[in-house]
Amino acid sequence: MSGPAAIADAIIAGDLTALDSNGLLAYLDGGSATGSGDTRVDVWELMAAADRVRRARFGHEVHLCSIINAKEGGCPEDCGFCAQSKHFDTHVKPSKFTPIDQMVRASEQAATRNASALGLVTATRGLEDDGFGLDHIVAGLRAIRAAGHTEAHASLGFVSDAGFDRLIDAGLTEFNHNLETGRSYFSEIVTTHTYDDRIDTIRRAQAKGLRTCVGGIFGMGEKPIHRVEMAQTLRELDVDEVPLNFLVSIDGTALAKVEPLAPLEMLRIIAAYRLFLPRQNIFIAAGRTHLGQLLPMMFSAGASGMMVGDFLTTPNRSVDDDLRMLDELGLVPRVCGSGRPELAGRAATAAPARRLPVVA
Ligand code: SF4
Repeated sequence: MSGPAAIADAIIAGDLTALDSNGLLAYLDGGSATGSGDTRVDVWELMAAADRVRRARFGHEVHLCSIINAKEGGCPEDCGFCAQSKHFDTHVKPSKFTPIDQMVRASEQAATRNASALGLVTATRGLEDDGFGLDHIVAGLRAIRAAGHTEAHASLGFVSDAGFDRLIDAGLTEFNHNLETGRSYFSEIVTTHTYDDRIDTIRRAQAKGLRTCVGGIFGMGEKPIHRVEMAQTLRELDVDEVPLNFLVSIDGTALAKVEPLAPLEMLRIIAAYRLFLPRQNIFIAAGRTHLGQLLPMMFSAGASGMMVGDFLTTPNRSVDDDLRMLDELGLVPRVCGSGRPELAGRAATAAPARRLPVVA
């Protein structure tokens, strides 16, 4: 197997699949996460290669986005990590749909944070074609697009073809639907729907011309092979954005007692994913504060973006600190999809590209 530096050379020369699944497994597997028991490729060597690939692809630009809960709690699904599942007794209580004006205000606030997109997220299995929920989200997307602060993205569970048509007509440009983990580990985490249910929804969103934002969560007890499986599926699906989350265990959920991954293990995962998915915008979302003092190193491990502002049920660190960190690193926020010719033809309704200033 080639070392990370040679893999990076090949990627930068145009071979986007220079790292195969066996190579990815070798980078992720091989010993304990820290200390002398770790026989894997040195994490610093891996990060140096991943950083070169990131800079060749994205330069000094990073993607920032924010999300808002458009319908919180009471979800009928049983995802073992999720505070919003009605199967678990957590601090989250079911709410009604978020009012439209609140969505628009969240979009305005996201723009002041240099986020170029606001994602509307519903804790639902999906939205019925003729139900109040879809009508409300359609109205919210229209209002956000009319206000013009950010792009309007959404994560709504399962959506029919007819539903996608209505959402796109209202201004949706990108759809999030995470895989959560590798195929062979999925049933350990979720039993109320299947991996193929999720893949079908992602493919149908792509068939409608939407950009897709698809990632997962690490630190749920999965093995390196499961991380490889998820990366392989993401490559096959050729998704556009890849949110990497690290489990934030929440009291009451099935994974409440799971300890966070060690920071160097998190950086290893980010770097290995960057080398395996060199085209995609890999951004770091929930759990990034588990990196502790190593947080800024997520970019030198290959991340090309991050979520700013609070997550759905857990707080994030302060936006001011995040923006100051970017400024000090010399990184510049960029608009979704800008500078990415492979996206031509997709998301024709996307907002025009514009450079956003860094707010100190
Ligand atoms: S992750 Fe989504 S689908 Fe799963 S329980 Fe939470 S809100 Fe429901």
